[in-house]
Amino acid sequence: MSEPLGRLLTALGERTDYDAVSQCSRCGYCEQACPTYVATGREAYSPRGRNQLVRLMLEGKLEDPAAAEEALSTCLLCGACTTACYGKVATPDLVLEGRRSLRVRPHWLVRRLSRLMIESPGTLARLLKLGYLFKRLGLSRLGRPLLRAAGLPVLAAMDEHVDEAPRRLLDEELDALRAPGEGSAWSYFAPCGPRYLFPRVGAATWRALTALLGRGRFLENSCCGLLANNYGELEDARELARRNIVRAEAAGAGQIVGDCSSCVAFLKSYPQLFLGPSDAEWRSRAEAFAARVRDAVEVYGEEAGRLPLGDDSATVVYHDSCRALNGQGLKEEPRRAVKSCSGSCYREMPDAGVCCGGAGAFAFVHEELSDEILKRKVGGAASVQARVVVTSATSCLIQLARGFRKYYPEARVLHVSEFVAGALHDRHGT
Ligand code: SF4
Ligand code: SF4
Repeated sequence: MSEPLGRLLTALGERTDYDAVSQCSRCGYCEQACPTYVATGREAYSPRGRNQLVRLMLEGKLEDPAAAEEALSTCLLCGACTTACYGKVATPDLVLEGRRSLRVRPHWLVRRLSRLMIESPGTLARLLKLGYLFKRLGLSRLGRPLLRAAGLPVLAAMDEHVDEAPRRLLDEELDALRAPGEGSAWSYFAPCGPRYLFPRVGAATWRALTALLGRGRFLENSCCGLLANNYGELEDARELARRNIVRAEAAGAGQIVGDCSSCVAFLKSYPQLFLGPSDAEWRSRAEAFAARVRDAVEVYGEEAGRLPLGDDSATVVYHDSCRALNGQGLKEEPRRAVKSCSGSCYREMPDAGVCCGGAGAFAFVHEELSDEILKRKVGGAASVQARVVVTSATSCLIQLARGFRKYYPEARVLHVSEFVAGALHDRHGT
């Protein structure tokens, strides 16, 4: 993994890593908000414990790097601790800085994937379509033991956990939806989840935004850089950020709307990638870019008064994606939209704001702990007899679908865009 950033943008302003971690007073107020602490009861798996490890690391006093690596790698980066903390200590960013300081080398697969996204997204798309064909034919299941034997248990877990195997990727879906001569009021930034795994979500976002905002344009992108930022090389994340900024500038003004809350939160955090002494120009361009970025759920929340009631009479609940709630502070906006489309069918579920245990690659790497956290989430949905669970991030879609298949098959999960587009279609046929 690359060098740490060294400086962070915290709620108190720009700080060095050491100043940022020193803001943790070790009060423990955040402990019960932390899913990994609640699931394990281990201090090292709590925000306070993780901050203490990062602090020791920065002071050069860390005695057991292997134990620290384990504690930091099991952080979901959900941000519930920061939301609960009076001082808004930036624990997830500090955990990432700790991982970088430990010089954990990214898995070759993550490095390769990052480079493919940057250098040849077309090749990535072709490989994915081949993989999906194998999956539909049932061949990938047979290959799981081979993947595990080849030292790729994460790929085997991904195949096991992810049920999707789309025939067409989003670019092909949108070809059928995009009218000639695109509009300019808004741009759609399609993150990798909707683009490569859930094209039905991206198509729903396009339809819903077009119905609500008029004609927009598709903003080409290779990836937001979140994968590289969290698991790979910072320089790859910076390169992707610069490309996205340049493309957005060339596309003109107007809001940039994305439909995976994790990626949107990362797009909004681009300025943090450019805090170095020679980065002043890119920092100001990143700030201008970030100011234009919107989560699709923000748009739906603002337009909630125009959203019709859908036809479905099943009980609907909303699950907060961590990077919508804790990463962007979006609590009421998505609820306003979902309530508008579900009326009296809407219920609030217990622990709606607690992480589902998906968290990017977490569910594939820490399967047991992830499953423990998932059970609590499914239990909350079952306790209100939810039939439709609506959310806004790719990881949550994968994880909740897996959880419902396994523990509560009465429920299904939808992205907010699918829910909103479905209601608009029921009412207006759009
Ligand atoms: S992160 Fe915040 S709430 Fe948690 S122990 Fe530190 S100061 Fe207290
Ligand atoms: S980001 Fe989430 S998992 Fe990590 S320490 Fe904070 S609350 Fe716990």
